[in-house]
Amino acid sequence: MRPMPELGQSEVDAQDLALVEGLLAGKRRALAKAITLVESTRSDHGLRAQKLLAAVLPHAGRSLRIGISGVPGVGKSTFIEALGMFLIGRGHRIAVLAVDPSSTVHGGSILGDKTRMELLSQREEAFIRPTPSSGSLGGVAEHTREALLLCEAAGHDIIIVETVGVGQSETAVAGMTDCFVLLQLPNAGDDLQAIKKGIMELADLVVFNKADIDPAAAQLAAAQMRSALSMLHPASPNWQPPVMTLSATRKDGLEEFWQLLEKFRDTLGASGEFAARRRHQALAWMWQRVDSGLREGFRRHPAVRDTLAATATAVEAGSITPTAAAQRLLDLAGQ
Ligand code: GDP
Repeated sequence: MRPMPELGQSEVDAQDLALVEGLLAGKRRALAKAITLVESTRSDHGLRAQKLLAAVLPHAGRSLRIGISGVPGVGKSTFIEALGMFLIGRGHRIAVLAVDPSSTVHGGSILGDKTRMELLSQREEAFIRPTPSSGSLGGVAEHTREALLLCEAAGHDIIIVETVGVGQSETAVAGMTDCFVLLQLPNAGDDLQAIKKGIMELADLVVFNKADIDPAAAQLAAAQMRSALSMLHPASPNWQPPVMTLSATRKDGLEEFWQLLEKFRDTLGASGEFAARRRHQALAWMWQRVDSGLREGFRRHPAVRDTLAATATAVEAGSITPTAAAQRLLDLAGQ
């Protein structure tokens, strides 16, 4: 667990003053350096990172946070690049972050390939950051949350968090964004899969990409999805998730997409749900940190360390019940 500064002791280290200044001035290098600091696993970096975050926090929170999920090949990077360029044209500053569970296994990354989003990455108004390439999904998601705050403090007013279509990472991204967008292919059966995984309940907006290939099939898939969604209980009483078709390569549908997002923001802003979501997410984040801290403390406890392997073997062999074993370990740890 990373050391946290005491309340009231969040003065940033002298060595990081220039970093904070650069970050708040919107300098991309400073932002990249700050994110590297929060991703570092060194404990001295951890303390500096938390002070840095505390110092810039008052400048964060003013962006629209958009989660975008879809299976590899659905067109996420093509879509994000097109949308990013469209939004830059409207005076916005974009940041693109990622949560990729596969990176935690083999160190790869959905944004690691430099050729992705080539146009967007060259723009001064855009900041693109690959997913942190190590750690558990929880750790990666936490770093992405912190990176998101840093991007906001650096003046990026639209943050896109990208993830692949794997249940847990989608839940993590939905838990750190204001609006969760599901990108789908217009193939029969995809919608049913999404419903099975329970991902539909997370979606605020569903987009069928590649509508240029077979527009009629895309319309049909959208209609089926609309009817499937109408049978689910919507997350908000004021928002039935819309379903639209789009072509990222032809940049066809970007305007409509953006209008829907603005409508979403206005509707949930007016009902107070937008702010409530963020409050809820902040608290959930705190509890996750508490849980992971307790778990780490438990595992590090000397009495637990000494007996954990033998207890686990006994549980596997059936010579002690899991409940009794857990109680014994918790007692040893004084919890
Ligand atoms: P990602 O893995 O989800 O990021 O998908 P990519 O953006 O890399 O796209 C995968 C492939 O689909 C690429 O060859 C894209 O050119 C193609 N593609 C993306 N969007 C569209 C689209 O709207 N229409 C068509 N025809 N192809 C697309």
